[in-house]
Amino acid sequence: MDTELLLPRVAYFSMEMALEPGMGTYSGGLGVLAGDHMRSAADLAMPIVGVTMLSRQGYFRQTIEAGAQVEHDATWDPSQYARRLPAKVRVTIRGREVWVGGWKHMVGSHCEDSKAVPVILLDTDLPENDAEDRKLTSVLYGGDETYRLCQEIVLGIGGVRMLAALGYQIQKYHMNEGHAALLTLELLRERVAAGESRDKAVMGVQAHCVFTTHTPVPAGHDQFDYPLATACLGPIVKDLNLPELAGKERLNMTHLALRLSNWVNGVAKRHAEVSRTMFPGYQVHAITNGIHPWTWASDAHRKLFDQHVPHWCHEPELLLHAERIPAGELTAAHREAKQALIGLLQRSGGKRLETDRFTIGFARRMTDYKRPSLLFSDMERLLAIAKKYPIQVALAGKAHPRDELGKRHIARLHEWAKELGDRIPIVFVPNYGVEAGRLLVSGVDLWLNTPQRPLEASGTSGMKAALNGVPSLSILDGWWLEGCEEGITGWAIGEDGPHDDALDSKALYDKLEKVVLPLYYENPEGWLAVMRGAITKNGAFFNSHRMVRRYMLEAYSR
Ligand SMILES: *Cc1c(COP(=O)(O)O)cnc(C)c1O
Repeated sequence: MDTELLLPRVAYFSMEMALEPGMGTYSGGLGVLAGDHMRSAADLAMPIVGVTMLSRQGYFRQTIEAGAQVEHDATWDPSQYARRLPAKVRVTIRGREVWVGGWKHMVGSHCEDSKAVPVILLDTDLPENDAEDRKLTSVLYGGDETYRLCQEIVLGIGGVRMLAALGYQIQKYHMNEGHAALLTLELLRERVAAGESRDKAVMGVQAHCVFTTHTPVPAGHDQFDYPLATACLGPIVKDLNLPELAGKERLNMTHLALRLSNWVNGVAKRHAEVSRTMFPGYQVHAITNGIHPWTWASDAHRKLFDQHVPHWCHEPELLLHAERIPAGELTAAHREAKQALIGLLQRSGGKRLETDRFTIGFARRMTDYKRPSLLFSDMERLLAIAKKYPIQVALAGKAHPRDELGKRHIARLHEWAKELGDRIPIVFVPNYGVEAGRLLVSGVDLWLNTPQRPLEASGTSGMKAALNGVPSLSILDGWWLEGCEEGITGWAIGEDGPHDDALDSKALYDKLEKVVLPLYYENPEGWLAVMRGAITKNGAFFNSHRMVRRYMLEAYSR
C-alpha cells in the first residue's frame, strides 16, 4: 500500500510551480514560491500533495534579438521528470466532456529527517479529448480569457477530482492565488449533492479551505464575465448562485476564494494591511514569504554553510551562527559565486564583467510597476557616480508576451547598454529562470529592487540574495519593510510613503553615491559586516521553512 495515502494531507494548489529547472511548469515568482513551499514541506516531512498544471509547452524561452525579446516554444518532456498515473477523471467544460489525466513528480530533499512529497501535474492531452481540449494544459498563462478560464476549471475542479481518484484524503485545500478558486465549487457541489443545504455546504467548505492572495491591486485579480462563466462551467453557475459568492457583476476568483476559505493571508505584513482595506470584512492574516535555503544558496555557500553551520539545511534559523564564519572564507565564497556568474555571462555571449568592479543585479519580471528603468532615469548623474566609483550591471527578466510595456522596458535597457558602452558595462542575461536566478542573486554585489509602492506584495529575490550575503538596496515595500535594517542588512531607497518616481530616483542615486559605493570601495570590513548581516538576519529568517511551519500551525491545523 502506498503510504502517501495513509495520512490525511494538505493539498497545495498552484497554477504554476517551479519544481526542476527543466520543467516548464512555472513562469516567475509565484511558481518559485510554490516550488519552495513544496521543497520545504519535503525537508520537514510534512503531509502535503501539490497540484499544478503539466504545461507541456511551458511558458516561453526568451532570446534577445536586436535588443528585443523574442519568444520561443519551451516544450519539455514530462517523462524525464514524472511518472504517468493510470487515473483519469472527467470534467465538463464548454458543454464537452474533458478527460484529465495526471503525472506524479516527487519533490525530494537534501536534509536529514526529510520525506519526498508528491506533486500531481494535470494533463488533458489525451486521445479521448477533442483537439481543442487537448491543448488546455499546454501553455502556462497562454491564450485568451476563455482559455484561461478553462485552464482554471481543469486546475480547480479537475484537481479535486484527481486527488479523490488517486485516493488521497485531504484535510485542507490551500489555494496559492485565485487561479485555483474553482476547487471550492467542486467541494460545494459534492456537499449539496450529498444532501446538505447550500448554506451549510458553504460553511463546510470554508472549514477545509485556506487562501493566499498575492495581488495588491483590484485590477490584478482574475475576473470573468458571467455569460462566459456559464458557457464554460455550465448550469452550476446558476445552481450554486455563484454571483452571491464570487461577485455580482463578474466572477472574481479572489472573491470566491475569500468567501469560501476560513483562513486567508497576504504574503507580507504590509500586503496583508493593503488587502484588508481592499476586502473589508475579511480577516486577512500575514505570513511573509520565504525562500528555500538549499535551492537558493550558491555552490560555494552550500559548502561554506555545511562546514560552519551544520544542519542549516533543515534548520536555516541556525544561519544566525554565520557570524562565526571567518572573514576570508566568506569573501572567498562570494568571489567564487561572482566568478560563476561571470562564467554564465561569457557563455551567453554577453559582455565580460570584471571581478573587481562593483556589480549591481536587477532581475525580475519585466513589467512596468517594477520600474526597471529607474536606475537609468538620470543618465548624467549615473555616469558621474560611475566615474568616481566604477560600476557594472547584470540584468535579466522576461516580459509576458502580451505585456507591451514590459517589452518596451527590455528594448530600452538594451539601448542604454549600448549607449553606456564601457563606461558602465551592462549585460542582460536572457531567459531568466531559476538557473540563471541562482547565479545572479549570489554573484552580484548588490541586489537592486525598485517597485512602485505598494505593488510589491512581497518580493522574494532579495531574500535569495541575502542568503548568499548579497545585501539589498530597495524601495520600502513588501518584505523589505520587515527585512531592512539600514546599514546592517542593506539599505532603503527613500522613505515609506506614496510612490514618486522623481523622489525615488534621487533617493536611489543619493544612497548609492554617498553610502553604498563608498562603503564597498573604501571600507571593505564595513562591507563584509553588511554581507554578514544579510545572512544572519535576513537569511536566517526569510526562508520557506519558517513560512511552511507557520502555515502548518496557523492555517492548516485550524
Ligand atoms: C525569485 C524569482 C522571482 C521572484 O522575484 P521577485 O523578487 O519577487 O521579483 C521571479 N522569477 C524567478 C526566476 C525567480 O527565481
